[in-house]
Amino acid sequence: MGARIIDGTEIAGRIRAEIAADTEKLKRERNVTPGLAVVLVGDDPASRSYVRGKNKAAHEIGMYSEQHTLAAGITEAELLALVEKLNSDPRIHGILVQLPLPSQIDEQKVITAIHPDKDVDGFHPISLGRIMTGQKGFRPCTPLGIQKLLSYSGVRIAGSHVVVVGRSNIVGKPIANMLMQKEQDADATVTICHSRTRDLPDITRQADILIAAIGRPEFVTADMVREGATVIDVGINRIADPSHPKGQRMVGDVKFDEVCRKAGAITPVPGGVGPMTITMLLYNTLLSARATASK
Ligand code: NDP
Repeated sequence: MGARIIDGTEIAGRIRAEIAADTEKLKRERNVTPGLAVVLVGDDPASRSYVRGKNKAAHEIGMYSEQHTLAAGITEAELLALVEKLNSDPRIHGILVQLPLPSQIDEQKVITAIHPDKDVDGFHPISLGRIMTGQKGFRPCTPLGIQKLLSYSGVRIAGSHVVVVGRSNIVGKPIANMLMQKEQDADATVTICHSRTRDLPDITRQADILIAAIGRPEFVTADMVREGATVIDVGINRIADPSHPKGQRMVGDVKFDEVCRKAGAITPVPGGVGPMTITMLLYNTLLSARATASK
């Protein structure tokens, strides 16, 4: 029997409709329009396209959104000055600096300069510390999107064994920490694996929920997955494909065609985790605006 497809586009659409309604309500009842500032440094085509997508999504949902595009050669001090300006701008509830940044700029310094109350990307050490200690705060967008995908598609997380392959600061570590918290949509037993993990397939086969955030095309094969497991594929990889009009296509970290015959539920790539990430940015911006409105 084939796996149930967890449709990220559909779930993201449902959540965006909820966010749009709540945004409208906040404007109407509190006269507060959630505001997002997106900062792009340089002209990397992928970053440019992500930033455009984030801005467009914010506009479509009825939020205020502004884009700041800075030259690749900008100094760290100039970027920090812009972040400081946005920190004190009352129209702005969320600040996102698109990564990666040029090599002359210390990324961590910039992330830390964003006021934690406007850290809608959830990468500030304070936001990450709040996850660890189970406090309220902004959760990074991709991990939050994964958690919502599981919850909206009715996958039981409490008591489940979650195996996360990947330990990056933006996906692997935060999602592992979020799902092990003693709270709703969490309470899992979590194992984290990485490139030094011994006998990886033995561990992944123990997963009720397997989360692949590796960055290697079609790395997870059917023999690494337990019959009936839920498989969340975070990977975005482009591989050459002469049969495709663009000469390449996008695949995840999971060999979808074979794993979907063994898993109980699976996210596709594209159309799984990807659409949730921008949606969670909007969600965090709404949370931030709401917090401001109730001050
Ligand atoms: P990183 O490169 O930062 O981390 C990859 C992780 O995978 C590392 O922890 C690494 O281990 C581990 N890994 C690499 N090779 C192996 C191996 N052979 N066996 C076991 N573990 C291995 O990647 P990210 O977390 O940033 O991203 C992961 C994927 O998710 C990428 O494809 C990225 O494009 C995608 N992504 C998608 C998003 C979305 O919105 N859908 C958002 C963010 C990322 P080690 O630490 O030992 O090096």
